[in-house]
Amino acid sequence: MSATFVHAEAMDKPTTHAPAQRESLFSARTYRIGSENAFRIGPQIRELEMQGHKVIKCNLGEPDFPLAKHVADEIKRQIDLDLTKYCDPQGILPLREAIARVISRTRQIDVSPDRVVVFPGGKPPIGLAQEAYCDPGDEVIYPSPGFPIYESFTGYVEAKPVPLHLREESDFSFSGRDLEPLITDRTRLITLNFPSNPTGGVATMEQLEDIAEVIKAKAPQARVYSDEIYENIMFDGHKHLSIASVPGMAERTIIASGASKSFAWTGGRIGWAVFPTTEEAAVFKNLNINYFSCIPAYNQMGAVVALESPLSAGTIAQMCDAFQERRDLMVAGLNAIPGVSCRKPGGAFYLFPNVAGMCKTLGAIEAHEKMPSDERRRSSPSTLLQMFLLWRHQVATMDRRSFGSLGSEGEHYLRLSIATALEDLKVALERIRAAASDVGGFQDFIREAKHLS
Ligand code: PMP
Repeated sequence: MSATFVHAEAMDKPTTHAPAQRESLFSARTYRIGSENAFRIGPQIRELEMQGHKVIKCNLGEPDFPLAKHVADEIKRQIDLDLTKYCDPQGILPLREAIARVISRTRQIDVSPDRVVVFPGGKPPIGLAQEAYCDPGDEVIYPSPGFPIYESFTGYVEAKPVPLHLREESDFSFSGRDLEPLITDRTRLITLNFPSNPTGGVATMEQLEDIAEVIKAKAPQARVYSDEIYENIMFDGHKHLSIASVPGMAERTIIASGASKSFAWTGGRIGWAVFPTTEEAAVFKNLNINYFSCIPAYNQMGAVVALESPLSAGTIAQMCDAFQERRDLMVAGLNAIPGVSCRKPGGAFYLFPNVAGMCKTLGAIEAHEKMPSDERRRSSPSTLLQMFLLWRHQVATMDRRSFGSLGSEGEHYLRLSIATALEDLKVALERIRAAASDVGGFQDFIREAKHLS
């Protein structure tokens, strides 16, 4: 089978294997990869700022806290010790040992350092896993709405994207019953992400056990890719739960996490994954050798301190308390805006309000229907709303399509990051409230037809 699966954003680009004589500079696969819109909206925000506007940035997926001093000090110390050369492509042993200890303790499983691989952030192992486990035509199940890279990479590796649609009514979690019909004998990867980006959804142990039962019975050939990068950002006193803790699952689960969110250290580019076997870890070590050789050892030593210092728990707790206070204020504030309803997320630092009513009142659904068909396909009512909020009311948010576009039609949501100061979030609320009744402004914005995408 040589089916080619095309990323939705690349529909009008070449869709088949490149012929020997081709017109395009780039390979066909290059056109089949998507992107992460969170990185693409930055220049538009800068343009508005250059015009003198203050944009409230609810688009950012990074904690607005500094890197803890005890970690920063260790990185500087290691640079002074000249730990600045090539190092182990799998990750330096002290870090792999620290990760193995932490994962063993928190998941109550037995992890050895030779099953751990360190990557430049939590993102690279997502695409590398699809490259390593999938042949063309194999299937990747991933949550939608979900982190965009899960869907984006499927086209690149010619795997079939199989979105698992998460429902607001289930607090953006899912059950074994939701998963079961999506599994086939071509299923290679089943992606889980709790706490979730963009919804903040978390799963209970009963749910994880239920999902695990289905995987054990129906997808023995598959690997579970459990993206647990938000593991430390949990609310209401709850502890993070991992599917790897369910008996029989550690041996089929890749546990992925990293330092970006837990330690407010997105620029450190330290992520990791624990593989079910040392053989699998060796395959990823070799991919690391091919792609980037290794990750700065001084940062890896910083990550050892971040994971092991008794000071880290306090830093994380402070950050979570701030996120929880902001969550409570924002959920209440959003729910008081006509046409908006917002669930209370259990973790991460995002809100995912339903804005169907707002889209309807403003005329975004109609405006979207009237767009020329190729533009319509790349847009949605919540995309128009996102652009309206940014350009007319100076609040940066992300639309539903940015989190997996396949099958997202008819779903009207925005993602708001609460990794922004409380005072700014209050201003954002007021601006969204004003936008919700600015029908005339929205119609002008559509008529002007500038900045619609
Ligand atoms: N997984 C999820 C679910 C994420 O939200 C992110 C970052 N937004 C990543 C992985 C990637 O993290 P990193 O910056 O460490 O590459």
